[in-house]
Amino acid sequence: MDIRSRLKNLNELQMSTLLSAIGLGVMTLMLFVCIFRVTNATALVIIASAAILGSVSLLTASPWRYALLAALVAALAAELILRERVSGLVVFSVLARFTVTGLLITFFGTLLMERGHNIYLDMKRLASEREQALTQLSKWLARGTALFVVTRTISTKNHLQDVFTEGLAEARKVFRADSGLIYSFDPKTNRLSIASSFGYSPEILEKMNKKWSTWGDALSCEACVRRELVAVDDLSAAPKCDNLQKVESGSSICLPIMTEGSLWGVLHLRRSFPDAFTRGDIQFAEAMGYQFGLAIQRSALFEQVNLLAITDPITELYNYRKLMRDMDRELVRSKRYRRPFSFIMADIDHFKQVNDSRGHLAGDAALREVARTLEDGRREVDRVYRYAGDEFCLLLPETDLPEAFELADKLRRMVEALYIRADGQDEPVRTTISAGVTSFSDALHQVNDLISQADQALYLAKERGRNRVVAYSDSDRLPDRVDRV
Ligand code: GH3
Ligand code: MG
Repeated sequence: MDIRSRLKNLNELQMSTLLSAIGLGVMTLMLFVCIFRVTNATALVIIASAAILGSVSLLTASPWRYALLAALVAALAAELILRERVSGLVVFSVLARFTVTGLLITFFGTLLMERGHNIYLDMKRLASEREQALTQLSKWLARGTALFVVTRTISTKNHLQDVFTEGLAEARKVFRADSGLIYSFDPKTNRLSIASSFGYSPEILEKMNKKWSTWGDALSCEACVRRELVAVDDLSAAPKCDNLQKVESGSSICLPIMTEGSLWGVLHLRRSFPDAFTRGDIQFAEAMGYQFGLAIQRSALFEQVNLLAITDPITELYNYRKLMRDMDRELVRSKRYRRPFSFIMADIDHFKQVNDSRGHLAGDAALREVARTLEDGRREVDRVYRYAGDEFCLLLPETDLPEAFELADKLRRMVEALYIRADGQDEPVRTTISAGVTSFSDALHQVNDLISQADQALYLAKERGRNRVVAYSDSDRLPDRVDRV
């Protein structure tokens, strides 16, 4: 590498060091030239003057350093003329050399000072940039970790409600939010409902829930309509979504939770001061929203599959599998707390004839209508199941035998009163049910015992003429009107 390209490749610091060395060398040389053939006293004055001028030039770049040089030249002239009494030519020669040396000292001093200062500023800037980059990096690292934690938490939940609750709790931590809500969205009704919340008073929540209780109200949610995150920097001033009119301070974000264009819900977070959500927060929230969507989609699918496994496709009632599960649980509960519970088994009368005379589609319509009637007639705590074929069951917690008998008879009358419309047929289908009723007793140890008792009672109801209810009981303390085994 030749000398020119070497010089070109020098960095700022190397260049300044080189300039300092050259400056020092030139200065020393010039000083020697200055004190050439002068007395020791004059040499001392010259060296002291050079030192003063050098120090001042290192400290300031002010034009006053030229005035100082002029003053030092004048002092040297006075020294030469008044004390040394040398000839005019010598005075001129010494002053000329000193002036040149002084100018060089001023130039190099200022040059070095400015370069040093620039290098210092550069280093300071680099240090602060590095610090900023580190802060940014640690922020992203924290966000990455938070996203991982959120994703892990919500993706391990199988129930939708858990995803909503735990997801909101994680979002609250990550964004240090003061209040927040998560809405679930029902595409069938186009409605939002609050699935979980924090920081809002029960009154506000009630008002919000009321607001969402009408069909299609998701259309008034800006984030739902725009299908993108909506941030409000200052809730006290900025124009905002209708639903935030009651929230009068702080800042907020509303994030639609979506996957592949399907809306699952909305996450709303609020902090109590303006401009609390940064650009980075918003990017992070968007990434989190997608993970939320995936977790919700997954658990919704899981719940749907679970529901299908316990639902009868024709009547949409719970099926036999669910009945067995619930009966086991109810039996254990009744034994432990010594609480009554009853069981009804109902069967449609002459249903085969309905199929034969009106067709299977009309039969299906009748099954659906009877199922709906049993659902309508049951109390809130009771559950209706399709046992098999044209047989239905009801589990009645906290119900003794006379009460269960009354309920079964009420349901029988409701079915008797039905006029069932079948597709393409003018004549309505009429039908009745027979039912067997039994209640839990200490003697019962197994679910099958209960089913067998209800079955015996049902058999008798059929035998005694159908469209009737028979109770299975070994006790005499039953009302007279109860038909019993
Ligand atoms: P009974 O009064 O003695 O109960 O007479 P029944 O004709 O109702 O006799 P049973 O209960 O034994 O008949 C059940 C009939 O229910 C037989 C079958 O054709 C019909 N069935 C079972 N499952 C379905 C179904 O999913 N759809 C339709 N349409 N019919 C069904
Ligand atoms: Mg039948």
